[in-house]
Parts: sequence; structure tokens; C-alpha cells
Amino acid sequence: MADRKLVRELQAIVGRDAVLHAPEDLLVYEYDATIERGLPEAVVLPTSAEQVSQVVKLARRRGLPVVARGAGTGLSGGAIPTAGGITLVTTRMKRILEVDAENRLAVVEPGLVNLDLSAALSRFGLYYAPDPSSQKVCTLGGNVAENAGGPHCLAYGVTTNHVLGLEVVLADGQIAWLGGRTADRPGYDLRSLVIGSEGTLAIVTKIIVRLLPLPEATITLLAIFNEMEQASQAVSAIIGKGMLPAALEMLDKVTMGAVEEAVHAGYPPDAAAVLLIEVEGWQDSVGEQAEAIRAICENLGAREVRIGFTPEDREALWAGRKGALGALGRLAPSYYILDGTVPRTKLPQVLRGVYEIGERYGFPIANVFHAGDGNLHPNIAFDESQPGEAEKALEAGTEIMRLCVDAGGTITGEHGVGMEKRDFMRWIFSDDDLEAMKRIQVAFASEQRFNPGKIFPAASGGETTSRQRAVIHPLGPDAYV
Ligand SMILES: Cc1cc2nc3c(=O)[nH]c(=O)nc-3n(C[C@H](O)[C@H](O)[C@H](O)COP(=O)(O)OP(=O)(O)OC[C@H]3O[C@@H](n4cnc5c(N)ncnc54)[C@H](O)[C@@H]3O)c2cc1C
Repeated sequence: MADRKLVRELQAIVGRDAVLHAPEDLLVYEYDATIERGLPEAVVLPTSAEQVSQVVKLARRRGLPVVARGAGTGLSGGAIPTAGGITLVTTRMKRILEVDAENRLAVVEPGLVNLDLSAALSRFGLYYAPDPSSQKVCTLGGNVAENAGGPHCLAYGVTTNHVLGLEVVLADGQIAWLGGRTADRPGYDLRSLVIGSEGTLAIVTKIIVRLLPLPEATITLLAIFNEMEQASQAVSAIIGKGMLPAALEMLDKVTMGAVEEAVHAGYPPDAAAVLLIEVEGWQDSVGEQAEAIRAICENLGAREVRIGFTPEDREALWAGRKGALGALGRLAPSYYILDGTVPRTKLPQVLRGVYEIGERYGFPIANVFHAGDGNLHPNIAFDESQPGEAEKALEAGTEIMRLCVDAGGTITGEHGVGMEKRDFMRWIFSDDDLEAMKRIQVAFASEQRFNPGKIFPAASGGETTSRQRAVIHPLGPDAYV
């Protein structure tokens, strides 16, 4: 808990009602969407970059860490304070400051909820493309810090492809702009460095985002396969033919069994896998693309391809996907969501390996994922209340992550490294690589007080990580990754 003097100093900056320090208030900020816990000494809710700057200066004078926090939906423990200090919550900085429809950009504050931006833009015929499945809640600042993706990022790219400029508060409290309103700028691209830096380099206080025109037409297809291998081949074949659907998602049999019981979306529980594919663009070309995709799926053995043209039909096809994670709660009381990426062509091989690991450990593993990006989310279902089960699930998860890396993939597609995966960083980066990254962190924030204990592996022989508990999720019915 914070000392009285710190509280008074913070209140002088942000106002009395924007500082939380009572133990019962701090509890709300001790976790994110993982189950890891860590209490801050105080929570501040600033309303401007100037206030953020003053809080950072105060924290620096007192040698306290500062952890930026948006909605706390992170899935790798990113917003959890590992060393106390000040948690700086951006949810009161949620204004859309400007929409420049002609130049297709908007200037927003970091606490703005992702979906609220697209909702506000629809009257301009525009939208913001990156759509994490948590988009009803998560903030754009959190999206920038995690370089978030989403089901529709296959065609359009992830957050970094849609951010032109950032206003940030640096470790000494200075307010600076990185990037700007134009696509390319001379000099080092510091904007890109901050995107995906998980709150360790700077605190984002304004974002200039790119906007896209709403598509004229959208068609959704559900292709049903009796073999997982066929579905995986269809993913590569569609993209290999030069098509780039807006979304290309896969659900396996384990997932569909749970989904049907819970959501009744009409997905056939006896099938091995379904692909949910969305194409969008101009009216004329979208119909042709949908037909071409249908033909590819059928040639590769799809037993049925359903097509949705109207918003209602499309929503019905998506219902099972959107309800998938909540439905998985029927398999076991707890589950561990993994996030790894592999080259698309390796999907059949890696999925075989995932099921083999599940069988060996005796856990059902449900796969529901962004297949077009090769971004897997195996969900290990287990019972945390049984002694030793959580440890076993974590071991199985570690094997799956290793499998992804050995297949030429990597340890995260969109959830970040946070606390969860920092020990896996050595699998893909040499000591020299890590040292180079550390130097970047030091160049930005020499005392490394922004979000300590994240991304970098624990020093050998030194601190232990809390990865063991950072990743086990009890998920609610609306959960959809
Ligand atoms: C059900 C569910 C579905 C999800 N689906 C997806 C998905 O499809 N794609 C995906 O990518 N992720 C997904 N996520 C993960 C999560 O929603 C994203 O990582 C999201 O970007 C986090 O945003 P947030 O506002 O909740 O950030 P928080 O969890 O509050 O913070 C996340 C990280 O961002 C940092 N941060 C926050 N704000 C700032 C700021 N202003 N400046 C600097 N650093 C900051 C924090 O320090 C922390 O390291 C999902 C999560 C859930 C629970």
C-alpha cells in the first residue's frame, strides 16, 4: 500500500478521485485475463498526457515502477505489477480527438475501447481493421502495446500495419511524438519499436490510426471436413491460389463437440474440422472469390460448404466460433490457452503433434484458431483442483510451444510475451539478440522502471518467473480468442 505522502503527491497531479490506494480498491487491479496476481502500491487514472508525464516524473524521483494498464484483458500477464509501484490506468483517456475521413485517419486516446472506434466511424463509411476478439472491452493502447491481431487481420495485417503515429511519455516524463500523419518518415522508425513493446519502453498517450472503407459486400463460408488434414491443406491451397480472405478460422472436433452442446450453431460434431472463411470487397468480385474457395474446399474433400450472404446468415455461421471458448468450459473446470505461430504449411504436422501431446498427458486439447495466419490457440482442458494437474498442463503447454518453435514458428502470435513466455525467449533469441533488445530498452528507459519483469527471461540463477501460474484461465461464456 502506498505511503500517505505518495498518495497526496499523486492526488495533486490527477485529483483525489483519480487515485486508488485502499486495499479493497487495489485488488481490482492485481490481475489481468491470466490468474497471476500482483498488487500495485497505488493506481492512478489520469485524463491527459500532461498528467501521465507528471506521474512518471514523480515515480522516477521516488524510484517506483510504472505499469501502464488498459482494460486488463491481456493473456500473458502484461499489466500485472511484478514489483509494486504505480499502475497507470488509461480508461479515462478515451476520446476520439479527430476523424480525418479524407485522409482516412483518426487521432484517439489510448483508453478508447477498440470496437467503440469502429462504431463511431460507421457514419463516415470507415472502420478500424484490427479486431481482437476481446474488442468489445480491450483498449487501443493495450492493442498497440501487444501489437494485437484478430480474426480479420489475415488480409489487413495486425496493429502495427494500422498505426501511423504515437504520442508517448518517455521514462524521464518527456512527451514525444513518434511517427506522424504520413506513412513513411525519415530516420529510425521508433513508432514500430514501441508497438508490441508491452509497456516496457514508453506510455502511449495518443494514437494516429489508419482507417479503411467499409467493404461493399461480405460473404461467409463454413466448409466441413471429415479429415483435419484436408482442412489444413485447404488453408494453404486457398492462399496458394492467390486469394486472401478477410478471415480464415479453424475449429476442430473437440471444440465443435463442446460448441454444439452450448451454442447449437449447427456445426456437425461428427466432422473432424470446419473452416470459417470470410471474403469481402466489391460486390462483383466477392461472389467469384466465394465460388473459387468453395471449389477448392470441395476438391480437397469438404463434405459440405455452407454459404451466408445476409448479415443474419453470416452471424449464424459465426455463432459457433464466437461462442467457442465459453463452450470449452464444458470440457473441464480450467484451461490453459496457448498462443503459438507456425508456417501455414506446417499446420497438419503441428496439429498431429498437439493431439499426440494431449493423449500422452491425458488432457483433451481443443483447437480453435486463426488458421490463415498459422496462429494456433490449443486449449488444454484440465482440472486445477486435482493435485499436480496444473503442473502437468503447463508441461504439456511447454511441449506444444516447443513444437511450434521446432516447426519454424514462434512463441506468440498475438498475446505477447509478458510474464508467461519470458523463459521461452531463449528458444528463439541468442544471448546477443537479447542483449541487443535490452540495450534498446535501456536507451528508452535507462532505469527500466516501465513494466519491469516482462518480456526478458529471468536472470540465470536469479529471480524465478511466475509463468507457472500466469496462464491458467477460468473463462466466461463470452470468451472468444
Ligand atoms: C476473450 C479474449 C479474447 C482475446 N482475443 C484476442 C485476439 O483475438 N487477438 C489479440 O491480439 N489478443 C486477444 N486477446 C488478448 C488481449 O485482449 C489483447 O492483448 C489486448 O490488446 C489487451 O488490451 P488491454 O486494453 O486489455 O490491455 P491490458 O491487458 O491492460 O495491457 C496489456 C499490455 O499493454 C500495456 N499497455 C496498456 N496500455 C498501454 C499504454 N497506453 N501504453 C503502453 N503500454 C500499455 C500493459 O502494460 C500490458 O503490458 C484476448 C483476450 C481475451 C480475454
